[in-house]
Amino acid sequence: MTTTRFAPSPTGYIHVGNLRTALMNHLIARKAGGTFILRIDDTDPERSKQEYVDAIQQDLEWLGLTWDRIERQSDRLERYEEAAQQLRDMGRFYECFETPVELDLKRKKQLNMGKPPVYDRAALALSEDDKAKLREERGNGHWRFKLDHERIEWTDGILGDRSIDAASVSDPVLIRADGQFLYTLASVCDDIDYGVTDVVRGSDHVTNTATQIQIIQALGGEVPNFAHHSLLTGPQGEALSKRLGTLALRDLREAGIEPMALLSLMARLGSSDPVELQASVEDIAESFDIGKFGASPTKFDENDLYPLTARILHETPLSDMAEDIAAAGVPDALAERFWNVTRENITTRKDIATWWDLFANGAEPAIDDEDQEFIAQAMSMLPEGPFDDATWGAWTADVKAATGRKGRGLFMPLRKALTGQAHGPDMSAVMPLLQVIKARS
Ligand code: GLU
Repeated sequence: MTTTRFAPSPTGYIHVGNLRTALMNHLIARKAGGTFILRIDDTDPERSKQEYVDAIQQDLEWLGLTWDRIERQSDRLERYEEAAQQLRDMGRFYECFETPVELDLKRKKQLNMGKPPVYDRAALALSEDDKAKLREERGNGHWRFKLDHERIEWTDGILGDRSIDAASVSDPVLIRADGQFLYTLASVCDDIDYGVTDVVRGSDHVTNTATQIQIIQALGGEVPNFAHHSLLTGPQGEALSKRLGTLALRDLREAGIEPMALLSLMARLGSSDPVELQASVEDIAESFDIGKFGASPTKFDENDLYPLTARILHETPLSDMAEDIAAAGVPDALAERFWNVTRENITTRKDIATWWDLFANGAEPAIDDEDQEFIAQAMSMLPEGPFDDATWGAWTADVKAATGRKGRGLFMPLRKALTGQAHGPDMSAVMPLLQVIKARS
């Protein structure tokens, strides 16, 4: 059965880059009727925070990306120890004692000599006595997985046929000197145990994939299908990471972006299919095809989310907006009229409160100098409220007769005096919503 997972580290809020990973894995599972696992990669006790675990779940819930199962790596340390022992028994795991400074020096020397900075496996030459002595002097060592020096090959769902020479990669550290299991080992154990069949993640993980394939094989697991999506950049191709703070999913939610706008964009961005507004995650899943995604960096512009959000709202019935409309203070009796009048004129839900404020408290009138007298005269002819659907037609007819103005020269100054804006909904429909008219005084 198709099983995928989204495996964030709870060290911060998730952002649009993470969303791409979450969404692709979710869609693959849903399209196949399989299982989608939310895996919390919290092997680092210092950087992992419960607050972020909660936030990740809230963000996914907001988007409707439901998971069938949730797992935490911190619950599985015994399993990782067992796997480590298995690797030791096979002679594929070795203890190393170099300090970070020593390793850095080795890398610099290699680079100076024009060689790739690959760990030289010096620790493999240590005798048991050497190790005992080093342990005494330096404490426990860190543990590396001994790669087989052969080519590691896989057919990537996005990048196509890949081949990496294992000798060009350092033996990966799987346990730190302080005993902390690192993500690579934990991830491999989890993918094996949970029967993960498909892994989609960012192209920054390509080298990890090569080493993980060998570790999975060493532990007797099935190698899943891997796909690595390109990294997102800003609209000009600049690194998105610099702006991550502004692109956390909760910031987009806060800005009023609708979940389906975000999902519709992210499901197609970087693929050969055009971005289309879709109605549900199920619809997106149906047409989703990982093979349509390209390998080159994908430009993301958060401004593209606003027209999509506006389109969703324009089509949203009152029943789905009633809560927001009531929360903005619109009386029930006016709710339907209010929504019909404003829906075409809002970009996000946040604009609801702005429109109601304008109707309820009156807009600052915008009156051009040459219209001052005209507006004063028109206002003296405006009946007392409350207004109805006929008010605008009757009033403007009276003003026209009294002043001789007509067309745009008649209507535009009146609209600007009442709403403060040159554009907006049909004024006949607006009038019954107006509670206060500041231009009257
Ligand atoms: N916790 C890892 C990350 O966020 C997961 C990578 C993976 O999908 O294996 O990068």
